[in-house]
Amino acid sequence: MNLLLFGPPGAGKGTQSTFLVEKLDMRHISTGDLFRSAMKNNTELGQKAKQYMDKGQLVPDEIVIGMVEEKLKSLSGQSFILDGFPRTEPQAKALDQLLTQLDLKLDWVVSLNVPDETLISRLTGRRVCKGCGAVYHVDSKPTQKSGVCDVCGGEVIQRADDKEDVIKDRLEVYRKSTAPLIDYYQAQNKLLDIDGTGATEAVFERIKAAVAK
Ligand code: AMP
Repeated sequence: MNLLLFGPPGAGKGTQSTFLVEKLDMRHISTGDLFRSAMKNNTELGQKAKQYMDKGQLVPDEIVIGMVEEKLKSLSGQSFILDGFPRTEPQAKALDQLLTQLDLKLDWVVSLNVPDETLISRLTGRRVCKGCGAVYHVDSKPTQKSGVCDVCGGEVIQRADDKEDVIKDRLEVYRKSTAPLIDYYQAQNKLLDIDGTGATEAVFERIKAAVAK
């Protein structure tokens, strides 16, 4: 089963992907994570992406599409979860073409619905480990020792694009460029509307029940 996790920043796409990868043995393809890893390694791709990401803007389509193409081609039969891609209509169309070309099928688009005020409080309070990428929240999931990752002991920081002024831009970009894809996937009969509020485990149970239909 191949899935696309869809939703605004802070909807829980990354968290739910982690559950799915653990419990259902799927390969996680997160364009945001791929860019962050390229930035950490200071590659040419990372330097290019940083200019857009730090401002909450989208990285140009051709860069993102090329990166996803490479990942899909390296799958060798494993199921996948797309997280954070596509984010624009040209990306969605390119994905359809790629899937046809590689003889792959997207089974469901899981759309996580979360009200704006919850998104903003999740994003402003989010902290991530620079080392292993573990995700925390200042109120709902703090680290045991301030600024230190419980998992690997790495430094826990706030993502540059999780600052309040950048969040507003990211939500605006989502509304303008990404949200219209809901209709695109509805027309393909692939959309599953999931309530993304409440405990992460509860959201995961909702997803599991919906994709088992
Ligand atoms: P995310 O971790 O999914 O919230 O992505 C963080 C940032 O990476 C976004 O705000 C964009 O700047 C960039 N990014 C991730 N995925 C895409 C995409 N599919 N298209 C364009 N930019 C992207």
